[in-house]
Formats: sequence, structure tokens, C-alpha cells
Amino acid sequence: MKSEFDICIIGAGMAGATIAAYLAPKGIRVALIDHCFKEKKRIVGELLQPGAVLSLEQMALGHLLEGFDAQPVDGYSLLQGDKKITIPYPLHYKGMGLHNGRFLQKIRASALQNESVEQIHGKALELLENERHEIIGVSYRESLTSEIKSIYAPLTITSDGFFSNFRESLSNNEKTVTSYFIGLILKDCDMPFPRHGHVFLSGPTPFICYPISTNEVRLLIDFPGDQLPRKFLLQEHLDANVTPYIPECMLASYQYAIEEGGFKVMPNHYMAAKPIFRKGAVMLGDALNMRHPLTGGGLTAVFSDIQILSGHLLAMPDFKNTDLIHQKIEAYYRDRQHANANLNVLANALYGVMSNELLKTAVFKYLQCGGVNAQESIAILAGLNRNHYSLIKQFFCLAMFGAYDLVRESLTNIPKATKILLDALIIIKPLAKNELSVAEVVSGYFKK
Ligand SMILES: Cc1cc2nc3c(=O)[nH]c(=O)nc-3n(C[C@H](O)[C@H](O)[C@H](O)COP(=O)(O)OP(=O)(O)OC[C@H]3O[C@@H](n4cnc5c(N)ncnc54)[C@H](O)[C@@H]3O)c2cc1C
Repeated sequence: MKSEFDICIIGAGMAGATIAAYLAPKGIRVALIDHCFKEKKRIVGELLQPGAVLSLEQMALGHLLEGFDAQPVDGYSLLQGDKKITIPYPLHYKGMGLHNGRFLQKIRASALQNESVEQIHGKALELLENERHEIIGVSYRESLTSEIKSIYAPLTITSDGFFSNFRESLSNNEKTVTSYFIGLILKDCDMPFPRHGHVFLSGPTPFICYPISTNEVRLLIDFPGDQLPRKFLLQEHLDANVTPYIPECMLASYQYAIEEGGFKVMPNHYMAAKPIFRKGAVMLGDALNMRHPLTGGGLTAVFSDIQILSGHLLAMPDFKNTDLIHQKIEAYYRDRQHANANLNVLANALYGVMSNELLKTAVFKYLQCGGVNAQESIAILAGLNRNHYSLIKQFFCLAMFGAYDLVRESLTNIPKATKILLDALIIIKPLAKNELSVAEVVSGYFKK
């Protein structure tokens, strides 16, 4: 089928808009469809790890972080009781804290300024197929007229986010809700360490914060379980498990935000990527793969996927050969699995660790020792170290350290030390099974 587009992108969110902004200046003809192009207020995607910033810079899109009061972030701090530690990101790298909605509007504007991009206001409905069951485009309901229309393209990218409508035909994913995040904005708030991401470990469940503008701090509070918290449970959780552990310097802003009551609640998913290879379509972003947002790894994965997919697509002379497009899609799925495994495993493993009293204390003491272990761990968190061996090594060093530390304190702690090791194994095993291969971990050892 002859088409006026090379690619049809479903969803002009972080993934869809960014790949359009990257490919369109290279002459690729793009149809960019979304049912809402207005700025949204969301609690997602507000901390870019250095790996995400680096990807943007490598795609010559780093300038999109300028001009809307985004804040540089130099590293992480961990707080437990009255103890505090900071770990800087590797030298010369920085993260960014920002308003997701403002950032997305900048990316969209950058994409839409290209003549080769057509903006389509509408809700994508169904993937269109030819008689060979190859995907040839999408039908959509146009926002203005409510008419059902169709777009045809040799490649359709489904980047319609975590409630994706197109997973069923393009993947075998199993989505689980790990917990919920309650999001608050703290105004004029002094954090214990300016220009840092903070992880608070004192309460029974973790909460995190980071700057998103000159005078605003995003606070994300974990609510464990897979059920949306009811209002009274939410209040109970805040009163018992959060408020007593908010540092003095943040208390006034926190209490003001609670009184204003403008909190948002979002589910935190884990979903390993299990794509079905279909000619004519590819999945990108949360539609394909999700991890716990505790480590802020989502956009690092999204931008890295965009680089990998674009690299393969741009190696083609044009979009006429559908067999070649299919080969490129296969190569993308293969390469991205390796590139994102550390981000995915770390996010959910760390959430498991921080929800476990013994491991939580162990991780604090482990990082407090500083040195190469702390440096290697922060480089993995930053999305700069994607070596699988490093990840597995750090995880088991942490568990061994925790067990040894307990036994060193007293031999009566041997049952607790055994528990730490078993708990660590229970956390890492299913994640490693989904995301890693033994061969890659071993080859990581030789590459390190
Ligand atoms: C609570 C929380 C906090 C997070 N914090 C961070 C963080 O600090 N740092 C980080 O890196 N990551 C974070 N993430 C993850 C990150 O936000 C996501 O990985 C990222 O936003 C995914 O981008 P996306 O483009 O796939 O989806 P989205 O950004 O959600 O975009 C999907 C787009 O598709 C459109 N759409 C949907 N359905 C249709 C349809 N049928 N037709 C047309 N358009 C459609 C939507 O309107 C939307 O614009 C967080 C996630 C959560 C849940």
C-alpha cells in the first residue's frame, strides 16, 4: 500500500514525541497521533538519571532540557534515622529534575516544527492488517469531527503508554502492580541536600524526593500492595509511616502540601518486555516494558530504546523494503533487552531491598562504606553502567555484607544472616530469570 508516511506513531508521550523529534529532521515522514496535545500535570518522569540526559545529548536533543526551570541533580542521598550519606554521580555526569508536562511540550514542539511531521488529534482505535496479517497502519477517531479515519505506513510504532491498547496483539506481557506512589509537590522546601535525589529509609516503606523547579520539590511516597489506596487508608499511611520521618527542614512545606490536599496517586508496574514479532509494527516505551519508578529509570530506558531503534531504522536506505524493516525490528528487540536489563532488575530489586528491614539497613551501611562499591552502584542507578556482571556482583556483595555484618555483631544473629541471604535470593531470582541470561553475565565479567 502506498503511503504518505514512513512511520505512524501512536502516542505523542515521552517515547513517541522524542523519537519523532529525533527522526523527523533526518527526513523521515511521520504521522504523530495523540488524543491530547495539551500540557498535563503528571507525577511521572520528573527525574532524569544521567543515562537519560546522556542519551538526549547523543541524539542532539539536550537543548530540550533548557528554558523551563529544570534543575540539575548531582547525586543521591540516603537518610535513615539521624544518619545521612550522599553519593555523587560519576564525574562529569548530571541528572535533571523537571516538570514532566513542561518537558513533554518542549519535545512535542521540537517534533512538530518539522515539515515531515503531521500532527493528528485523535484516539487510535485498531491496528490495520493486510491479508497476510502484516500491520499496515491504524484507524483512529478524529478528535474534532469524531470521524473514524485511517493512516497507512510501512511501520507503526505503538508508544501509547502504560495503559496501551495494542499490547494484546504485539506482546505476551504480564503486567503486575508492585505498589502505588502518592505524589505531592512541596513548595519553597529546603531538602537536606540541595541538587540531590533523596531516598528516605526511616519509615516502614520508602519515600523519595528531588527538585523539579527552583522552588518545588517532588515527594513520592510508596504505598505497598496492588490495591488502589482508599482515602482513609492513605491518610492513615501518611500519619503513621511518613509524617514522623519527614526531616525538620521539609516539615512546614510538607504539612502545607498535605493541608492543600492536591496529591495524585499512580500505580507502579513491573512488566518485562515479551514482544511478539509482527511485520509492520513495533512497541516502544511503557507500552513494551515497565519497572518500579523508585530508581527513576523509566526515561533512561525509553531514550536508550529510541537510540537503538532509530540506529537500526536509519541504517536502511528508505522504508520501501518491509522485510528489511522487519529485520531491523528484530535487531532492536534483541539489543534493547541487553541495554535495559540492569535498569529493570535494579529498579525492582531495590524496591524489594528497601521494603525489607534487614536488607534496607544493609544497603545503607554498604553504601556508607563508600569506595568502589558505592561508585559502581551509583553508576548502575544512573544508567551509565549497563554491565550485567557488575549488577549481579553488587547485589550479592550487598547481601553478603549484610549477613557478615550481623554475624560480626553477634553469633546469635546467624538466623537473621541466613534470612538476609535467602531474602536476597528470593528478590533477585525472578527478575534475573526475566531479564538476564547467564551468558551475558559471564561475558560482562570479561568486559568489565
Ligand atoms: C509514579 C511514577 C513515577 C515515575 N517517575 C519517573 C522518573 O522520575 N524518572 C523516569 O525516568 N521515569 C519515571 N517514571 C516512568 C516514566 O514516566 C515512563 O517510563 C515514561 O513516561 C513512559 O513514556 P511513554 O511515552 O511510554 O508513555 P507516556 O508518557 O504515558 O505517553 C503515552 C502517550 O500516549 C497517548 N495515548 C494513549 N493511548 C492513546 C490512543 N489510543 N491514541 C492516541 N494516543 C494515545 C497518551 O495521551 C500519551 O501522550 C515514573 C513512572 C511512574 C508510574
